[in-house]
Amino acid sequence: MGDYDLVIANGTVVTAEAVYIADVGIVGEEIAAIGQGLRGRRTLDAGGCYVLPGAVDVHVHLQMPVSGGRYVSSDDFASGTIAAAHGGTTTVIDFVEPQPGQSLREALAARRAEADGKVAVDYGLHMTIPTWHADEPQALAEIPALIEAGVPTFKLYLAYAGLRLDDAQLYTVLKALASHGGLPIVHCENGPLCDRLRAEALAEGHTAPRHHALTRPPRQEAEAVGRALDIAALAAAPLYVVHVSCAEALERIVAARRRGQPVFAETCPQYLTLTAEMLERTGGERYICAPPLRREADQMALWGGLARGELQTVATDHCPFTLAEKAEGADFTQVPGGLPGIEARLSLLHTLGVRGGHLSLSRWVEVCCTAPARLAGLSRKGHIIPGADADLVIFDPVRQVTLSADSLHERAGWTPYEGLRLHGWPRLTLSRGEVIVEEGRFTGQPGHGHFVARFDVT
Ligand SMILES: [Zn+2]
Repeated sequence: MGDYDLVIANGTVVTAEAVYIADVGIVGEEIAAIGQGLRGRRTLDAGGCYVLPGAVDVHVHLQMPVSGGRYVSSDDFASGTIAAAHGGTTTVIDFVEPQPGQSLREALAARRAEADGKVAVDYGLHMTIPTWHADEPQALAEIPALIEAGVPTFKLYLAYAGLRLDDAQLYTVLKALASHGGLPIVHCENGPLCDRLRAEALAEGHTAPRHHALTRPPRQEAEAVGRALDIAALAAAPLYVVHVSCAEALERIVAARRRGQPVFAETCPQYLTLTAEMLERTGGERYICAPPLRREADQMALWGGLARGELQTVATDHCPFTLAEKAEGADFTQVPGGLPGIEARLSLLHTLGVRGGHLSLSRWVEVCCTAPARLAGLSRKGHIIPGADADLVIFDPVRQVTLSADSLHERAGWTPYEGLRLHGWPRLTLSRGEVIVEEGRFTGQPGHGHFVARFDVT
């Protein structure tokens, strides 16, 4: 009889701090020991493979209604988290969007009811504070109760009429969050300016998808990032900037951090790998997302930012729609925005980041697993240490996979990475000690995942 329920033996443990060969012993749902010659009731040989902390995706939109409910993103909490598990992601954070007249706590309970019992991996939720709640003292008074309920991160939009906050609202909400220790996570684009540019384009008869990128230029994203940073400084609030897409926006973040401001920033695989030229192809509308895809020079700036620690995390902003839904609108302004990507993030970053020479193995794990867990307050995730949740990935670095809609488990029916050849893919994914994906076969179950209450953000 061994000392552990399960031992992952002979693997190369890769953490944000170090790379070394060791066995990992698991008791129940937790990592119990890391060492040599551990004996378990069951042993999984990880020889020749990396043993990673389960990847953490802090930005996903599952079964999300958009365009007033006309479309709903095509992965639900079951299919989306199963796809995540296949790719080695063992925790996701989705969003609550309270409706007008609905309290933030009611909205949280309703969203949890949609996810609980369906998620295959652990999940958390960010609370959105939309325009209609930003001026309501009773909504802002709910912030402490939400933080106590394990929702310490708050999504604020500067784009999208209806959702977006004006400067005064942003200041008020940031100040309220700062006073209670909440972390604002902000979509930085200048919504009113984009709306005007879009209206101008349509008035000139420009309806093609490429005008999506032309009417959301890098300069307006950078302006919104800079403004959010300045207003956050006035409100003495930290800031987490989601989906940074371009060099100009990154420059504002670097400058603010140099001034000593507490700012954290995320980018996404699509901004590291795809360019706005894809919008010019037949069916280019499928690549519409916001911020839009940019230029190759921006990709290089983002890789550099990740390598230097100027960007802390890579999340997917997974928000899939089918090709039929994408193609339905009469012009680019009517296309539901967002791309699928929840499954391949970890492997994409291994192939293009590590093998591409941009990231060390440890930095890869840091941006995909450890930093997102730390910033989001997932204290039991993102580490391989005794007492942490046994969320682990056995990752085969030489397994080659060609991405295609047919082999991925996402439900959109297409992938922006079709035909891309990846080096490295998970052989096994464990969630709290349970093997949930083994050699490409899902062995877990919807409902295994728990809501994770998060505290101590950043
Ligand atoms: Zn998003």
